[in-house]
Amino acid sequence: MDEKEYMEMLDAAIEKLPEDVMNRERFKLPKAEIRTEGKKTIVVNFKSISEALKRETKHFLKYLLNEVGTAGSYDDQSGRVTLQGMFTKRTILNTIEEYVKEFVICDTCNKPDTNIERQGRQQILICLACGARRSVRKL
Ligand SMILES: [Zn+2]
Repeated sequence: MDEKEYMEMLDAAIEKLPEDVMNRERFKLPKAEIRTEGKKTIVVNFKSISEALKRETKHFLKYLLNEVGTAGSYDDQSGRVTLQGMFTKRTILNTIEEYVKEFVICDTCNKPDTNIERQGRQQILICLACGARRSVRKL
């Protein structure tokens, strides 16, 4: 079995799991469309996901690249991100979920209606629903 077959098998097994990882959040994200092309991994609807999260594609991409540990680029025309290397859907979905937890969801009320504002050298996540604030790390 080569690497691609193995990853397809893994993804097929994951798709049979009853609970989609994103359903645990209180809001619905567009389902990430992820596929591999050659030795690259494409997140087809990266732009729609960023928009649903109300986060800048630049910020989200930086996080994704750091966490996955690869290089990649965003194309605004197609809204896609191309990552160097082959990654499973699970890896990408987990990374998106971690991003949502750290940079989108309010810790206090668990709602996703938040903004990130810069205050001096700090980045503050402000919840529009309950007014809670917490600092988030700079990427
Ligand atoms: Zn809140």
